[in-house]
Parts: sequence; structure tokens; C-alpha cells
Amino acid sequence: MSRAVKRAFKYRFYPTGEQAAQLSRTFGCVRLVYNMALQARTEAWTQRRERIGYNATSALLTGWKKTDDLAFLNEVSCVPLQQALRHLQTAYTNFWARRAKHPTYKSKRRSRRSAEYTASAFRWREGTLTLAKMSRPLDIVWSRPLPAGCTPSTVTVSQDPAGRWFVSLLCQDTVTPTPAAGMVGIDAGLESLLTLSTGEKVTNPRHERADRRRLARAQRDLARKQKGSANRAKARLKVARIHARIADRRRDHLHQLTTRLVRENQAIVIEDLAVANMVKNHRLARAIGDAAWRQLRTMLEYKTAWHGRALIVVDRRFPSTRLCSTCGALAERMALGVRSWTCPCGAVHDRDVNAARNLLAAGLAVTACGDDVRPQRGTSRTGRSSAKQETPRATTGIPVL
Ligand SMILES: [Zn+2]
Repeated sequence: MSRAVKRAFKYRFYPTGEQAAQLSRTFGCVRLVYNMALQARTEAWTQRRERIGYNATSALLTGWKKTDDLAFLNEVSCVPLQQALRHLQTAYTNFWARRAKHPTYKSKRRSRRSAEYTASAFRWREGTLTLAKMSRPLDIVWSRPLPAGCTPSTVTVSQDPAGRWFVSLLCQDTVTPTPAAGMVGIDAGLESLLTLSTGEKVTNPRHERADRRRLARAQRDLARKQKGSANRAKARLKVARIHARIADRRRDHLHQLTTRLVRENQAIVIEDLAVANMVKNHRLARAIGDAAWRQLRTMLEYKTAWHGRALIVVDRRFPSTRLCSTCGALAERMALGVRSWTCPCGAVHDRDVNAARNLLAAGLAVTACGDDVRPQRGTSRTGRSSAKQETPRATTGIPVL
């Protein structure tokens, strides 16, 4: 049985000078409107204990556009500005539900430069995309085809710190799950990126070590440049380019891996790792720094949902490392440097393979007796994953599966 899913397809594009200027202006207005609405909401709460919602901020926006100081807001499409108010509303909803921190102001340099257009603000005709307030379609590089007959419902334009332009098209797509028999446990490794219960070790993407060296050098160069100088701007762009390359390779690598795992297995068992705790350890910081594990989990969440697979998240208190996967005895705590150990029963374990096998066993116990090893937070997070696939943010940059 095939199921309908919302899926985002992301492409690079090359704007004309005029389009780039228009989009930069739009990004600036989106940031300004978001920050002004955030300020209005914060003030209403701190000064009058009043909660103002999306509708109130929308009315404020109409007012701002009529003032002389903010008349320039009329020069860009109103839809991305409205969407910024909706994003703020979502941020508040997550804050009230204790899923997120209080929203913060968007900064010119550090925040993502993006603008979201809904159907009324773009024209989609025979594979060409024209945004509101623009006369010509975007010059998109169709690196992979859109599903046949697909019409995007939402379009998000963004520019990364390396200066590259992207457009993400949210489309309705259908996925036909095919049955798979396997079940696999995955352990976040120390030396290798991941270890599977099959004994397979997944290494970091190729060239990553060299890229990291280059990054460190570029960052040192940047630190030596004078503030505000043209050379500093150049050095900053260089750092951003290396960052982007590392992130791109890492994401491609994880996409290939998660796609394969979801295709081969009916159930996947992972550990509910607290990334904040892991980063405190400096040996791990490098491996976890770019949030590879969180990215992997997000990908597994929506891909398993699409394909009707089970993702079993085991409580982080489960002693996956110390348990002997042969006899079930619990060993003493061991230092991070211990790569292999021998159980009194005689079994010699590779630390990570043993942990992955224990996760698999815990997952099998869950599927066998309907037991739930997921902690409260994990339950709600995986529970939301079916809703998550409706939002464009959760599904950007998905490869063909
Ligand atoms: Zn043993």
C-alpha cells in the first residue's frame, strides 16, 4: 500500500543581480518583521502579562507598513513576512509546550537567510518557478527530477554562509513501502561514526579529516585578520565554504546510510543519546560537533515513518556498553579508551559491536512483548515524527529513496 508524504526537494539556483538584490532585501525584511513581532510579544507579556498571538502580530505588520519609516516593507512580497510571523507563532507554541527555549532575535550574521513563499506568492508553470515581485523565473539547477506531475505547495529560498543560493520545493509524493525482514541495532561509536549490530563499522565521510585540518587553518587565518577589513570578509567566506563542504559531505553520507538501513530493515534500534552530555567529553566533541547523531536520528525518524518501519529508541540508562551480549552479565564501568573487553564467561567483545548487539536485543524484547523502553521524552519525539513530515523544515534535502 502506498502512502502520501510531503517531501522537500532542494536545488541550487543562480539568481540574476536583480533577483539577488530583491531576495537579500526580502531576507532583511523577514528578519526585521520577526524581530519586531518578537519584541512586541515579549513586551506585551513582561509589561502587561498579555499573550498576543499570530493575528495580533499580523495586524501590527499591517500598521508598520503604513508608517514612513517602514514603508520599505511594501517593496518585498508580503507572504514571506506573514510566514515569518507564523514561524514565530510555532516557536512560541513549542516554547509553551516545553519543547523548545524561548524564541530569540534573529541576527544579521548568524541567522539563516531564508524566505518562505506559499502558493499565492509564486507561479509554477511547466517546471519553471517565478516568485512574487520578480519578472523572470529562477535559474534552477535540476540536479534530480521532481516527481512527475508534482506541484510545489511551499517554496523556501535561502542563502548559506558560503553565499550559495538554494530553493526548496515542498511537494506531495507517494512512497510504496516494500517488506524487509531485517532488524538492526546502531551504536554511536567513538572511533568509527557508527557501529551496527551486524559488526559493520561505519566510518566518517571521506576527506573529513583533511577538511577539518583545512578548517582549523582557515579559522586561524580569520582570527589574525583586522576587524572590518576586506581581508577579514574574504577569510570569513573561506571558513564558511569549508564548513559548508563538511556539512554537505556529512549529510550525503548519512542520507546514503539511513536510506540503506531503512530499506534493509523492518525495525531499527537506537539509543536515546544525550548529545549535550557527550559534547563535554573532548574526544567525542569532534565526532559529535556537527550533530551527526541528531541528524541521523531525524533522518531515521522520517524515513522509517515513510516506509512503515519501526524506530525503537532505547532509554539512555540502558547499560548497552557494559552488558555482555553473550551471557547477559553486567561488567564494571569502563573508560572511554577501552576498545575491547573480556567477560568472565569467556566472550571477547569489541566495545561498540557489543553495545549495538545489546541494543538490538533490547529492541527485539520490545517487539516481542510490546514492552516500551522509550523514556517519556523519546516517546513524544518519535510520536511527533509522523506530524513532523508535514513541516517543510523537517524534510529538507531528502534524497530519492
Ligand atoms: Zn559474558
